Amino acid sequence: MSSHLAQTQVVIVGAGPVGLLLAGELRLGGADVVVLERRTAPVTESRASTLHARTMEILDSRGLLAEFGSPPNEPRGHFGGIPLDLTLPTPHPGQWKVPQRRTEEILEKWARSLGADLRRGQELCELSVARDHVEVRAAAADGTLSRWLARYVVGCDGENSTVRAMAGTAFPGENARRTLVRADVQGIDIPDRRFERLDAGLAVAARGANGVTRVMVHESRDAAAGQDTGTVDFAGLCALWRRVTGEDISGGTPLWINSFGDASRQAACYRVGRVLLAGDAAHQQMPIGGQALNLGLQDAFNLGWKLAATVGGQASEDLLDSYHTERHAVGRRILSNIRAQATLLLGGPEVEPVRAVTEELMAHPAARAHLAGMISGLDVRHDVRDGSSSLLGRRLPPAELITEDGARTTTTELLRAGRGLLLDLAADPELTAQAQESARPWGGRATVVTARCTTEAVEAGLILVRPDGHVAWAGHGTDGLGAALQRWFGPQEPTGTRDGHNENRRHTMNADATPSVSGGTGRLEGKTALVTGSSRGIGRATAVRLARDGALVAVHCSSRQDAAEETVATIEKEGGRAFAVRAELGVPGDVDELFGGLEDALTERTGSTRLDILVNNAGVMGGVAPEQTTPDDFDRIIAVNAKAPFFLIQRALENLPNGGRIINISSGLTRCANPSEIAYAMSKGAVEQLALHFARLLGPRRITINSVAPGITRNGSPVFDMPQAVEEMAGLSAFHRVGEPEDIADVVAFLASDEARWVTGSFVDATGGTLLG
Ligand code: NAP
Repeated sequence: MSSHLAQTQVVIVGAGPVGLLLAGELRLGGADVVVLERRTAPVTESRASTLHARTMEILDSRGLLAEFGSPPNEPRGHFGGIPLDLTLPTPHPGQWKVPQRRTEEILEKWARSLGADLRRGQELCELSVARDHVEVRAAAADGTLSRWLARYVVGCDGENSTVRAMAGTAFPGENARRTLVRADVQGIDIPDRRFERLDAGLAVAARGANGVTRVMVHESRDAAAGQDTGTVDFAGLCALWRRVTGEDISGGTPLWINSFGDASRQAACYRVGRVLLAGDAAHQQMPIGGQALNLGLQDAFNLGWKLAATVGGQASEDLLDSYHTERHAVGRRILSNIRAQATLLLGGPEVEPVRAVTEELMAHPAARAHLAGMISGLDVRHDVRDGSSSLLGRRLPPAELITEDGARTTTTELLRAGRGLLLDLAADPELTAQAQESARPWGGRATVVTARCTTEAVEAGLILVRPDGHVAWAGHGTDGLGAALQRWFGPQEPTGTRDGHNENRRHTMNADATPSVSGGTGRLEGKTALVTGSSRGIGRATAVRLARDGALVAVHCSSRQDAAEETVATIEKEGGRAFAVRAELGVPGDVDELFGGLEDALTERTGSTRLDILVNNAGVMGGVAPEQTTPDDFDRIIAVNAKAPFFLIQRALENLPNGGRIINISSGLTRCANPSEIAYAMSKGAVEQLALHFARLLGPRRITINSVAPGITRNGSPVFDMPQAVEEMAGLSAFHRVGEPEDIADVVAFLASDEARWVTGSFVDATGGTLLG
């Protein structure tokens, strides 16, 4: 049995909706995550299919709701089978039936697009927890063993959770006494039944638009006998249906059948050190009212940002512990309402008086709204400490806003980036200035937005919102704001690492002077960078410059390993950190070869495969007139200069954290004619398209992507030793000199820095004025 050891920050076991949402949230928060899934393919059964209002809000706050289509706003729900109007003040009240496979499809696509690493066909077989890490072993069907070292492991592996069992977490509660059998059956024609309580049990039948009928049936005698009907085949289901309803459905074809009991259990602790549980792994319940999936997704939404902040070193242990405190309380309450509903729905004649009284109570608006709030998940209120605002601990209500620059937005849209939010609705310039000053030290984690609300949905003042949309603090002054920021977003950030503000570093380039190598700023401290083609020329100068700014740099070459080692030696001599990595680009397998070497080297040095900066610099010129350019020449130029950067970016998105940087080296020849380099100029034209289109895709992750276009730049080519040629080339620049590699390196370093956070999709002319005409 072979075994492969790899590292990541978080391993999630289970790629159901909960594991996938959590994976996306962790990536949004900048954490590396690997998801291990036992199944080799996504589920095809319908299973959990109800999305409630709070879940729809959550999906919307990550820009995912539109992927599902248009919510039906169907307010008809039930409580224990008694009709309940779920209307509440939310954009999408009521429930929405979405097949689980669709939910998984959307969440998987999203998590992967953010860089989550999903491995199917991996069954957890061993879990060991050490003081500072966990080791997870998983086996594939062919016996190959994978070993993962991670900071945390999260069990999202369902009610029979292996993670929970291996961690030895207590799972107290009650065993099942009643069973509901559920199936999708094609080719039957029976009357629709909405929770019909019959003498022999309960029957539900709903024919969908596709002609498939969802049936659910419970037989009273199984409860009386205290038996769990367990697994049922189609013959068993038909017999059961006949006993309860008297109807024959044996002529149909079952698409799937499952059964579930009313067991009610909850993990004693959702977090035990480095092991966490979410979804059904943390709580087992009968899926009455479609609450189980929603409860699980909301667990993931609560946990994701907290765990990402913890592994990112920005949070105290208390923040992670608040996951248990908050979600265990919510789970306890939901489990209790589910048991009440199971009794009302599946109980025998003895529950009729209770049903009658409940129905009477539900006719009162306040009782109806109370139950609707509980079932939809909209009434969750966390204990976020003292304060008088009615918003405290609750989710920020969806509302329309007009920002100070006149733009229309919504509270939901402001949560899309998965960051904290200080919403300034105070309409008081002095307070705005104070709020901005107070929040400045947390600029990388919480965004300040000054706006006014077009309705009264949200009260005026300052409101601090967590990435999961819950209000952490609210006030009409800034008293207590700093403490709340510290509590929820960790200690103040050191100056220079802030995403939002960086006041003390400015870079100037003196165009009159021949450039000297710029001094390091340290502003890339803790970052990692890959510069392709950095064995020489512009790439080398860029690698040296990024290392001088504090980055650990992967110096890439094609064949000139000696030259790459020379670049590494130069960097190390200056006290910087670098390593060489070799892979020929523009040939099959190039990206895998490069990333294989890169990730091993990064893991060895940093314990992670995180790559903060990718500079696509490697390139080849043609140097032949169009008449002499062969198809092979053309293919090679395109493969190295355009195709390789595209696939390097595609692969690097698995490694780039939020706020990452991509810089592609183009050429002034995309805007200045040179008939002997037409194919080359075409390839660079293609490279520039990367910035335009990827910028839009990567904006939500705050990853910037830009093109830098050098003009004629001294790169060690013999032509630069010919004074007359150099003189002629210098004449093209407004500064009357040829470019030096450092001229370009400085521009790349700026785009790689925090100062360039607001620049994306741009073309930066670094030709020394050659394009001025
Ligand atoms: P250079 O001195 O010719 O160096 C090229 C670098 O790219 C070397 O590190 C080389 O690795 C690597 N490389 C070339 N082909 C490769 C392949 N197939 N696979 C992997 N690596 C490969 O380059 P430069 O003049 O500094 O140019 C750097 C970038 O700027 C290029 O994209 C170029 O198009 C662009 N540019 C340059 C100028 C200029 O005047 N210099 C002007 C405009 C744009 P080995 O050392 O192993 O061969």
